[in-house]
Amino acid sequence: MTVQRTLSILKPDATERNLTGAINAMLEEAGFRIVAQKRVHLSEKQAGAFYAVHKERPFYGELVSYMMSGPVVVQVLEREDAVAKYRDIMGATNPANAAEGTIRKRFAESIERNSVHGSDSADNAATEIKFFFSDCEIVG
Ligand code: ADP
Ligand code: MG
Repeated sequence: MTVQRTLSILKPDATERNLTGAINAMLEEAGFRIVAQKRVHLSEKQAGAFYAVHKERPFYGELVSYMMSGPVVVQVLEREDAVAKYRDIMGATNPANAAEGTIRKRFAESIERNSVHGSDSADNAATEIKFFFSDCEIVG
């Protein structure tokens, strides 16, 4: 497996509790390089577009409201097998099911306020990275 990139979001529950440094430390400890990063406050349109894949799910409206409720930190993470490795260290969507040592086990408050987003495939990673970053903002 070659070096790969994935899109990460530190969600409003994480920025609210001042956890961005603690999460970044876990990421760097796990071998990820943060090759792009910015703090943004998503509009309803941006949050809705980013999560459009979940439009039909019952929690979509609440998810969009939550993601625009405070600032987020969007990042591009780089390492070998980054998409799968980040899903591993994130932990299960519902923190009640997340394994020991994962970000969500340590920090998530609920299935919705679960601290981090990570792309779920290489194709979606490419799309999601483009959603937030231009090529010249990513410094490997
Ligand atoms: P993941 O973030 O683990 O890839 P999904 O893509 O299925 O999970 O869902 C996107 C986000 O929507 C989750 O991270 C979480 O914030 C929220 N979410 C998922 N399932 C629920 C649910 N049943 N109730 C409320 N929010 C949910
Ligand atoms: Mg997902």
